Amino acid sequence: MAISRCNVINANYERVVMVMDRVLQERYRDFCSCPRCISDIAAIALNYLPPHYIVEPSGKKECGSPWIMVETAVFEAIDKVMEKPNHPKANPHADGAERM
Ligand SMILES: [Zn+2]
Repeated sequence: MAISRCNVINANYERVVMVMDRVLQERYRDFCSCPRCISDIAAIALNYLPPHYIVEPSGKKECGSPWIMVETAVFEAIDKVMEKPNHPKANPHADGAERM
């Protein structure tokens, strides 16, 4: 049994992370970017998108959902988390979120 060697990645996960990275820096500078909020955004965005598992990342082939869909999912997710962060707004830092 070598199940631990099973190595798949979700191409949409890679895309979501890339878009989040760009969008949060460009447009949401005042956004709480603690690990909890970042993770929440990624989770929400990924739930919007269909999974697209691949074994090897390939630079040539287009993997995952179209960028416009990924961007839409990320924007929706950011709006949701900004509106209702999963931690008290007064304490936006990671150590506060961990105790929730
Ligand atoms: Zn936060």
